[in-house]
Amino acid sequence: MVNLSRDFFIALSNNKFLNKNAKRWGFRLGANKFVPGTEIDEVIGVIKKLNQAGISCTLDHLGEFVFLKEEAIKAKKQILYTLDRIYVEQLDCHISVKLTQLGLDINSAFCVENMLEILNKANQYNIFINIDMEDYSHYEPTLEILKELRKHYENVGTVIQSYLYRSKGDLEKLKDVRIRIVKGAYKENNEVAYQTKDEIDREFISLAKERLLGHSFTSIATHDHHIIQELIHFINENGVSQDRFEFQMLYGFRTELQYKLTKEGYNFCTYIPFGTDWFGYFMRRLAERPQNINLIVKDKLYT
Ligand code: FAD
Repeated sequence: MVNLSRDFFIALSNNKFLNKNAKRWGFRLGANKFVPGTEIDEVIGVIKKLNQAGISCTLDHLGEFVFLKEEAIKAKKQILYTLDRIYVEQLDCHISVKLTQLGLDINSAFCVENMLEILNKANQYNIFINIDMEDYSHYEPTLEILKELRKHYENVGTVIQSYLYRSKGDLEKLKDVRIRIVKGAYKENNEVAYQTKDEIDREFISLAKERLLGHSFTSIATHDHHIIQELIHFINENGVSQDRFEFQMLYGFRTELQYKLTKEGYNFCTYIPFGTDWFGYFMRRLAERPQNINLIVKDKLYT
């Protein structure tokens, strides 16, 4: 069994040289198991199939480490085009974006400008835009930009990571905002984040329960069946209405469970990344669950 550590894959995910060059390689290392295409037209069929099974989707046009304005503008145009395609094809699908892809590391006002353009079109099409949460150095700027954007548009929300000590307090301030709850995918130090699985899981459950008793929509994003079971129990006990929440998982992970939860009547949303910028995303998935590399190795041997 291949046994590589979380820190190793997180370090690779942050390697700018590898991220840049991986775009030229095409899919390697079995990444297509988790990233179903490089162009929107390649993934439309995947979305339609999921929609037919009653699963909605959120699309992420992959991209990070953007430090040039022209690259951020290109990313924005691709997202605008993706919105057009979702609308024309009448897909049950919203969009997830990363602010660093849209200029957050260049200039905050420029990033807001790009986001307003995206939100304007998404609003016309009645499509929700989720701002993914990145590492802690971008946390505060992301929440500030969200606040600014919500002065103009309501079809925007973000992500709260249960590994951060401050998440409970921040969630209080985001009572009216659609939120996705996750454990957190980056390496953060013990000044800001819980370090053990038990603490992070406990906090996830506590944050999710608080949201489920509130009034805004919540996406419960985890592959952890123990957590899902505990929350389903809580939902039934408290008569939480089905239209107030959904479960979310990443494309390529626990597909059977995704279909099972949908068949049981829960709202379900699959997060689908696409594009050439697959390296950082893929390495973070290996960091979360190094066993994923064994699945890929097996695939390579047997197919
Ligand atoms: P883990 O802690 O990885 O796993 C817990 C347990 O679940 C495992 O011990 C195992 O028993 C079971 N399990 C997990 N995966 C599998 C599998 N493939 N097969 C079988 N059993 C399995 N992070 C961010 O920081 N920002 C974001 O914006 C963000 N968005 C996300 C969106 C979605 C839809 C999802 C699902 C995750 C997102 N993440 C994001 C990543 C998240 O923070 C976690 O890093 C990631 O989901 C891994 O944690 P987990 O809750 O899935 O369970």
